[in-house]
Amino acid sequence: MSDHYERVKIELQQMKEVENEAAADEEQLSPATASSIPADVSFTARRDLSRSSVNGRSRSKSRSKSRSKADGHERQVNGKQLADPTAQKSDSSQGQSRVSNEPNLHIKGTARLLKSKTAANGHVESCLRHTDGKCEHHGKEDGRKAVKKRRGVTVDTSKAKTSLEALKMSIRQLKWKEFPMGRRTACDIYWHGVSFHDNENIVSGQVNKFPGMIEMLRKINLSRAVRTMHELFPEEYNFYPRSWILPEEYQLFSTQIRLLKDNDSTLKPTFIVKPDSGSQGDGIYLIRDPADLRVISGAQIKQAVVQDYIQKPLLIDKLKFDIRLYVLVRSLEPLEIYIAKEGLSRFCTEPYQEPSQKNLSHVFMHLTNYSLNVHSGNFVHSDSCSTGSKRTFSSILYRLASKGVDIKKVWSDIIALVIKTVIALVPELKVYYQADIPPGKPGPTCFQILGFDILLTKNLKPILLEVNANPSMRIEHEQEVSPGVFEYVPSPVDEEVKVGVIRDTLRLMDPAQRKQHAFIEAFFYLAARRFKALPLREQVLLLLEVCEGALEGQSHSEKPRPHRSHTNTNPASQTSAPTTFSSPALTRRRHRPLQLSAKANTEN
Ligand code: ADP
Repeated sequence: MSDHYERVKIELQQMKEVENEAAADEEQLSPATASSIPADVSFTARRDLSRSSVNGRSRSKSRSKSRSKADGHERQVNGKQLADPTAQKSDSSQGQSRVSNEPNLHIKGTARLLKSKTAANGHVESCLRHTDGKCEHHGKEDGRKAVKKRRGVTVDTSKAKTSLEALKMSIRQLKWKEFPMGRRTACDIYWHGVSFHDNENIVSGQVNKFPGMIEMLRKINLSRAVRTMHELFPEEYNFYPRSWILPEEYQLFSTQIRLLKDNDSTLKPTFIVKPDSGSQGDGIYLIRDPADLRVISGAQIKQAVVQDYIQKPLLIDKLKFDIRLYVLVRSLEPLEIYIAKEGLSRFCTEPYQEPSQKNLSHVFMHLTNYSLNVHSGNFVHSDSCSTGSKRTFSSILYRLASKGVDIKKVWSDIIALVIKTVIALVPELKVYYQADIPPGKPGPTCFQILGFDILLTKNLKPILLEVNANPSMRIEHEQEVSPGVFEYVPSPVDEEVKVGVIRDTLRLMDPAQRKQHAFIEAFFYLAARRFKALPLREQVLLLLEVCEGALEGQSHSEKPRPHRSHTNTNPASQTSAPTTFSSPALTRRRHRPLQLSAKANTEN
């Protein structure tokens, strides 16, 4: 079975509906386009978004915010920072006023697909489609060539912890070099099991964790980040359950629920309480009234998030399940996200019933965590990807498709959810990043695989439950070998999904690929500086023309051709002279709305 990442391209724009230009973009960026995007197509965040926060002012602003957060103060996302993606089209003050007056977020997706296949013998057969549209290698023979090319990549696995097994397999498949004890000289890639700070002495290469990611993905911080965006863009950020932060919002929670019940006495809401730094279902419980919140040692309510419990999840075989999707954040600046097309579905082990006072404490009915359900007598270990208590996500999609569900719509909604969530996190992540790796100082670059936990409602709407900074990459599962005795045994489903995710991540982080990428980024940067007011595609085309013109000029000076230089009609060479910028051809092009303006940004 193949696994693959989708390159995700995000376009995010604030627009005035009345403006003509904006109207054209409106058509292009309408959220409605999301639903028409096929399952094998995805979104990427427009670089303008990240670019908008690299100016010194917003940087220092963000930094002071981070400090206040560290002091325990409320997180605030700078709306301007987030909503100034139209820098190429408008000045920043316009962008700012648009945030406050017209909080409309438009996201549009396009994508290229990265596919790979693991043959039964473990060799990698792949068709790696580069962003220029050329197939780098095809089939077994070319695959071998590509593997040969990558042989030199070195990976320090000394801190990999529980992901070690899957990582080793991936490195073997790619025929890269593993350094299990670390290496005296630098490695290309450092694989950390927990955090960026697992090894403090890295000054080059790439680390598989971002500084601050763990902090940003704690339940309270994630809730705050998504909630802030929900306040700005209520329609777009409606995929996260209504949440309250405890203990500070206890009064608010109590009052709101009391009012709700007073207005409609038939309402019987249920809430789920999640400790801030908990994981694997630890400490989670359901309540039906704010008065049922548990207190610790008779004093304070624990730091936690309490949120609306989704009462009508989609069921399969009468069981509740959730989806674990793996998302690679390849870079923050520019923002690059890849979504693994294969993930896992974790099933409850007791048939679902809507919450009632009687079943509120049935964890095997309400919580889908593998770590909990594996201890239920009903847990089904299966070597098949489409049966048992842990299955592949694709097997769920096939099953839904066979029942007539529009799975393309489900998938594109999921992709939109992922993109919007990452967008909500990016501003603060950048602050953490710059604090640990200040611009100009030697340091590694970072990437990270995140684990998105998503629930589908009965109506097939994806709901974000949480994002894990350290999704389990174990490829063994616990099995009760004798009563009360658990052992780790190989899990084919986990291996299938997780080795694929790690292997494709490594491929995407291949330094050879990144070097090419860095060159293109630099070219775009120069183009943006040279032709500020234009869409990126225009900028790049113009810079190319300038280069061609310069080349032409050079060849003239090397081999003087006096007659031609006066009669040259090549528009590219005309651009070499400053006056040609006002040539009719170029002026026309500058004003023409461009359909693909952001594509050129990241598809290289
Ligand atoms: P943890 O990090 O402890 O796993 P989660 O937020 O993932 O915490 O919640 C654990 C489980 O509880 C989820 O896998 C899901 O089955 C269930 N759950 C969490 N939030 C909700 C919710 N708002 N509505 C319904 N079920 C939920």
